[in-house]
Amino acid sequence: MTDRAPQPVDRQLPTDEARDLLALVRDIAQREIAPKAAEEEGAGRFPREIFTLLSESGLLGLPYDSEYGGGDQPYEVYLQVLEELAAVRLTVGLGVSVHSLSCHALANYGSKQQQVEFLPGMLGGGLLGAYCLSEPSSGSDAASLRTKAVRDGDHWTITGTKAWITHGGVADFYTVMARTGAEGPRGITAFLVPGDAEGLSAAAPEKKMGMKGSPTAQVHLDGVRVPDARRIGDEGQGFAIALAALDSGRLGIAACAIGLAQAALDEALAYATGRQQFGRPISDFQGLRFLLADMATQIEAGRALYLAAARLRDAGRPFAKQAAMAKLHCTDTAMKVTTDAVQVLGGYGYTADFPVERYMREAKVLQIVEGTNQIQRMVIGRHLAGPETR
Ligand SMILES: Cc1cc2nc3c(=O)[nH]c(=O)nc-3n(C[C@H](O)[C@H](O)[C@H](O)COP(=O)(O)OP(=O)(O)OC[C@H]3O[C@@H](n4cnc5c(N)ncnc54)[C@H](O)[C@@H]3O)c2cc1C
Repeated sequence: MTDRAPQPVDRQLPTDEARDLLALVRDIAQREIAPKAAEEEGAGRFPREIFTLLSESGLLGLPYDSEYGGGDQPYEVYLQVLEELAAVRLTVGLGVSVHSLSCHALANYGSKQQQVEFLPGMLGGGLLGAYCLSEPSSGSDAASLRTKAVRDGDHWTITGTKAWITHGGVADFYTVMARTGAEGPRGITAFLVPGDAEGLSAAAPEKKMGMKGSPTAQVHLDGVRVPDARRIGDEGQGFAIALAALDSGRLGIAACAIGLAQAALDEALAYATGRQQFGRPISDFQGLRFLLADMATQIEAGRALYLAAARLRDAGRPFAKQAAMAKLHCTDTAMKVTTDAVQVLGGYGYTADFPVERYMREAKVLQIVEGTNQIQRMVIGRHLAGPETR
């Protein structure tokens, strides 16, 4: 019952090169990702080969320096690429966003020597990354993390457990935040740990509500030895590095949320114009028409918000408050729009015969990752009213 083909999003793109890039992404998305998305999500299969293809196509390092294999794209373009990928399969869009997050530390705080040695493989050499901040007892309060790194001559020995790690067990490298000093945010240092390091292992993937194709697992570091050449930035700088990556990462989550919401709206519109009740298409009824209008309006507002934040970032201006606002608004929009899409499809929406029930399950995680939406409100509140007095 899909009478009305979805219209491509009318995007504002800064260059012809960006327009060509988006066309390439749409082509890969439709040809390579969309056909297997529902089946593989149902089976919980991670599409590793898609990430290899994206890397070979230059799509895994888009916002980074071309000197090291990146794509030199502004965030306003990179995020719209994420949106297109997430619209066909969130596991892929979010996976690319997490990969970018895992490259952020080295690309922005690594030494020239480290960047020359490691970045080309990470940005365009087929490698896949993971970002390891959360632990079983420290999520929102990430600065209380306990994984320890102890210096041993020109090496470090890292011991601890990271939790909820996207690509845990399948990543080729892990950007790990570990405690090297006193309690609190200033005692944390960042490391780049290879996936095949001795002592690194992943638990069985979590059994999640949605995004079942994306492996999320605890990562155990049992006396993992890494040379000091794999320490990123200064000792004690790791928490600031982790938070800087998250400011950018939140924009990635916002873009993925809008892609998912757009996919849900497209599905709802196609259904509503084809389904007849009371002798008319259900899209004739004002009750549904207004619901669809609200869905579309929230999506457009979300897209405008994340792009405004991205354009601030691209201009080298502060964007952390706007990134938190975009993450908050876009992921709440994805939750609302996907829930409403199920409503538009009635009983059929509640079955796995249509993708909207999957979209609704997938949307929920976006309100949780990279700082829950309560934490986004805290961040915005601090920008507005200053730090809490206690
Ligand atoms: C599928 C998935 C993938 C993930 N991928 C990664 C990853 O790749 N790397 C990584 O490091 N982490 C990852 N995470 C972890 C994610 O970032 C955390 O789940 C998140 O930060 C919340 O931490 P928590 O689950 O421990 O919840 P808690 O911090 O225990 O929070 C529980 C509840 O309390 C609320 N809360 C906590 N503190 C406050 C406060 N001060 N004010 C108001 N409310 C508060 C929270 O908003 C939440 O509702 C992933 C999580 C999931 C589910």
